[in-house]
Amino acid sequence: MTDEPVIVTPKPGELLPCPFCGSEAGLEHDATGRLATWRVYCRDHLGKEPCPIGLTNTLGYARRVEAATAWNRRVA
Ligand SMILES: [Zn+2]
Repeated sequence: MTDEPVIVTPKPGELLPCPFCGSEAGLEHDATGRLATWRVYCRDHLGKEPCPIGLTNTLGYARRVEAATAWNRRVA
């Protein structure tokens, strides 16, 4: 069991770059709730001009592949 969401390194080619800023996407596995979920987010959420979706995670998905697919379909 884990207490906090875990940042997972995406596999090569698994995630497209952020459609807004072109930064790398990150993958988060949250097993803190009753249902474990996967989320993808833009890693450029720090700094003076953070990406508009940097802190706006995609919805949580039960399966990693579902989260990745949803992210890869996302358009700016
Ligand atoms: Zn971005």
